[in-house]
Amino acid sequence: MECIFCNIAKKKVDAAIVYEDKDIIAFKDIHPLAPVHILIIPKKHIASINDVEESDAGLLGNMIIVGKKLAKDLGTADGGYKLLFRTGKHGGQEVGHIHLHLIGGAALHEEIRPLNVEWERK
Ligand SMILES: [Zn+2]
Repeated sequence: MECIFCNIAKKKVDAAIVYEDKDIIAFKDIHPLAPVHILIIPKKHIASINDVEESDAGLLGNMIIVGKKLAKDLGTADGGYKLLFRTGKHGGQEVGHIHLHLIGGAALHEEIRPLNVEWERK
């Protein structure tokens, strides 16, 4: 199976890359939800957060550090931003290679509630 994010990491598919080191690459989301919308991915293929191993802890921590750095570089550190992992169908994950969304550059909607309107806050 061809993985689009592995192919971006291998430079087989073009992306607007904003950061790269030996383990991590970050690029602009092609369907941005806000003025700043970056996807931060490990170069190593990990299908979802459900597949993360304890040995990946350093890698995941470094992804957050990259998110912090990019938030500053892209001018959204002071105003605020979201760092978000979507996981699985209910989480809205659309590509089967983990990606940390950095979303900011504007005041953001707080919507994270279930679609099922019968759900009530306890
Ligand atoms: Zn992949």
